[in-house]
Amino acid sequence: MIDLSKLTIKSAREGLKKGDFTSRELTEACIDKIKKEDGEINAFIEVFDDALGQADAADEQIKKGIEAPLLGVPIAIKDNILLSGHKSSAGSHILEGFVSPTDSTVSSKLQRHGGAVIVGRTNMDEFAMGSSTETSYYGPTKNPTDTSRVPGGSSGGSAAALAAHFVLGSLGTDTGGSIRQPAALTGIVGLKPTYGRVSRSGIIALGSSLDQVGPFAHTVTDVETIYNVIKGEDKLDSTTISDSTYKSEKKFNKTIGVPRKFLKNVSSDVKKNFEQAEEKFKSLGYKIMDVDLPSIEYSLAAYYIIMPAEASTNLARYDGVKYGLYVDGTDLLDDYMKTKGSGFGRETRRRIILGTFVLSSGYYDSFYGAALLAKEKITDELREAFKDIDVLLTPSTSGPAFKIGEKISDPLSMYLEDIFTVPANISGIPSMSLPSGFVEVEGKNLPLGILLSSDLGREDNLFQIGKDFLGE
Ligand code: GLN
Repeated sequence: MIDLSKLTIKSAREGLKKGDFTSRELTEACIDKIKKEDGEINAFIEVFDDALGQADAADEQIKKGIEAPLLGVPIAIKDNILLSGHKSSAGSHILEGFVSPTDSTVSSKLQRHGGAVIVGRTNMDEFAMGSSTETSYYGPTKNPTDTSRVPGGSSGGSAAALAAHFVLGSLGTDTGGSIRQPAALTGIVGLKPTYGRVSRSGIIALGSSLDQVGPFAHTVTDVETIYNVIKGEDKLDSTTISDSTYKSEKKFNKTIGVPRKFLKNVSSDVKKNFEQAEEKFKSLGYKIMDVDLPSIEYSLAAYYIIMPAEASTNLARYDGVKYGLYVDGTDLLDDYMKTKGSGFGRETRRRIILGTFVLSSGYYDSFYGAALLAKEKITDELREAFKDIDVLLTPSTSGPAFKIGEKISDPLSMYLEDIFTVPANISGIPSMSLPSGFVEVEGKNLPLGILLSSDLGREDNLFQIGKDFLGE
């Protein structure tokens, strides 16, 4: 019997190489666990029927002594990441039945370069809009630590699949926090890489200047392994950067900056947990200094203009003609209206309307233009701060996982969930959430996370400090 809760990617690779178990046995253990427990959690929209075939192919390669970083390791992908010949719906009714004719670059790298077994696609907020996975057409995902609570979002399925030990690693996407916030609320590690570090080719777009794909895992070492497989310049995505872009000689000085004024509204539990993390860093020989980032508090406002603007443009393509759902109307315009009206959920429609509003003539300069100026200022301030510090430290969220239903009818309080995560998307910097302990609520220990961000291209700093903090 394979105990999935004891395995990491690293230890699974060792087990596979030594012949303790095969990739087929490992993948079967994952699928059995999903069958038994995912009825309640709802992390997966679909388990792929070729998963065991992929595992057999990996076993053949392992037998031949071939080495690859993820060879034979079961991994899950978010439902907005295309895999050739498989369905992808971005958690939306409008893409129901859509089968991808191509691979995303990350799926192809996972399989061809990494040797991973892609087990299935995970649940998400519709088109990655949300912080709770409740806006999915496929129903909410539940937090494995307390099933009355959300796992965070929008990559809640990928986070829950890891936290429930259904797979050993997963991919999410992060436009405003959708990897890091669910990682924090489910007690795992999640990384949003530098903008351009990972190809967006074959990702169902939300906000194209903000979106990045990134890994979830139980350890920083595992996150780094997946990151190394998926990153890299890609001719199919002209915004990708080469390894030498942002190359810097700045040495790691064990210096952490805390934007103290920005943290004033967190709950007392989060404050206490954060202070404990600071103490731990000090005991590990880190210097902590306060940094002043006067514009960082405008990140959320800027984000909720830029993201809907880009989303409204990206979502214009779902018109019933090219992909997925088609609802017949009286004429072409009526076809569009009926298809979009019944295919898109409430939150998606809200953002399309918001996005077209901030881009409309007369409002463009005062909303969209102003948001772009704020973005520039926030980025400049952050980049300046990184001259003195290696990483910026904040809590990942202002509280632990909330109850299913608690925030879904109050969009503003849902948007506030992203307060600490959006600055990294606005500025493009890499950012990682680490589990930092628990807070007891109603007799359950709920996970909390701390958020580490570094200068553009300096994922190496995050891995270093993350391994110091977690030990692996
Ligand atoms: N919660 C944020 C939003 O709803 C972040 C989404 C994301 O990162 N995909 O926009």
